[in-house]
Amino acid sequence: MTESDLMDKVVALCKRRGFIFQSSEIYGGLNGAWDYGPLGAELKRNVKAAWWQSVVHHRDDVVGLDAAILMHPKTWEASGHTANFVDIMVECKKCNKRPRQDQLNNGKCPQCGGTDFSAPKAFNLMLKTNIGAMEDSSSITYLRPETAQGIFVNFANIVDATHRKLPFGVAQIGKSFRNEITPGNFTFRTREFEQMEIEYFCRPVEADQWYKDWIQARHQWYLQLGINQDRLRLREHGKDELAHYAAGCTDVEFLFPFGWSELEGIANRGDYDLKQHAQLSGKDLQYQDPVTQEKFYPHVVEPSGGCDRATLAFLVNAYHEEIVKDSTRVVMKFHPKLAPVKVAVLPLLKKNEGIVALAKKIKSGLQKDLVCVYDDTAAIGKLYRRQDEVGTMFCVTVDVQSLEDNQVTVRHRDTMWQERVGVERLREYLVNNLQ
Ligand code: ATP
Repeated sequence: MTESDLMDKVVALCKRRGFIFQSSEIYGGLNGAWDYGPLGAELKRNVKAAWWQSVVHHRDDVVGLDAAILMHPKTWEASGHTANFVDIMVECKKCNKRPRQDQLNNGKCPQCGGTDFSAPKAFNLMLKTNIGAMEDSSSITYLRPETAQGIFVNFANIVDATHRKLPFGVAQIGKSFRNEITPGNFTFRTREFEQMEIEYFCRPVEADQWYKDWIQARHQWYLQLGINQDRLRLREHGKDELAHYAAGCTDVEFLFPFGWSELEGIANRGDYDLKQHAQLSGKDLQYQDPVTQEKFYPHVVEPSGGCDRATLAFLVNAYHEEIVKDSTRVVMKFHPKLAPVKVAVLPLLKKNEGIVALAKKIKSGLQKDLVCVYDDTAAIGKLYRRQDEVGTMFCVTVDVQSLEDNQVTVRHRDTMWQERVGVERLREYLVNNLQ
């Protein structure tokens, strides 16, 4: 299977099995936006839950936040987005397409190969909107292009409310919007997406160490959730790629079928953001050392990742084809934490009332703790393949013998290994095997 086949197969599976649909498909679709179907919604929730657990619940030094998408327009002046969040665009005079200047192929239009372009134009990527009944310049604001600023503007609130001492971090998951000139590569580059961001505040002298620690922590997170290490790498930015205030930035990159691309950036941002907001708001955003009373601006390390990009990487990484008994088995080998469905309960004979009743009873017991489905719409071989294709961890089959010995067959997704397990210890067995 070539890499381009792999991408086509993942995209087709996402549509066929209800992971990801094109936005507003019945109207011809909306470029740069995607909808997560029933299984995609579960998968993405699991990605976010795994992130939150790792960076908030399993640590002592990070708290959560859920700030609004709409923010005071001054926020974006302070952050530099109003002035600098631009891509440079040119218009091809031959085909009238407007590619990004940095996406020309050796000076040629990527669409038609034309070489005659309009003068380059700066294009701000923030999505503008108006608040309230008046549509004039005073009502303009923006859909946030990143979640990070919601954290900076709440820095003093969080210190006051939680009495946190340095170092500590604030984590947030939420929607962001960018009017990308060329969205593409499925959900990799979209105009509406979800970010998972942390601002980690520390003393200036500790920033370099925290920067290194966060690079390791974030790299490990992807590996622990099953990303193949051959498809994952760290890439440190060259000095010419860094913002003027940044001391360093390292990307976690995944080898997508379309090449190595950024999943997440970890930046050592200095004290730029808090200083900017202090200046524009007139509020004191310095931290006061509780012992020495010394006041200073903390430095910030920012691990900033995309939930949709991570989800796409987990989808690509999970896709496997195997030959089993002369036919191809497609199996999504998601990490147990991420698998959208943990257990499928399958009656072997759907016309046998006893079997159906026991299968439904088992399902209603298990679904209190585990995401379960019940399916009796095909023969067992086909039902297994269906579950493999969406990465269900276990299939539990109820048969005639189950009615006599109160045991069921549990089939494991990756090995297809089967074992008889007593109904009374089934829940415990499944939970133990999900670790
Ligand atoms: P790129 O260079 O790919 O445009 P970026 O460096 O501008 O990304 P950041 O501003 O660092 O991205 O945003 C942090 C994270 O948010 C990225 O690592 C990515 O996972 C996610 N992200 C950014 N833009 C998009 C987008 N248009 N679609 C989906 N995810 C995005």
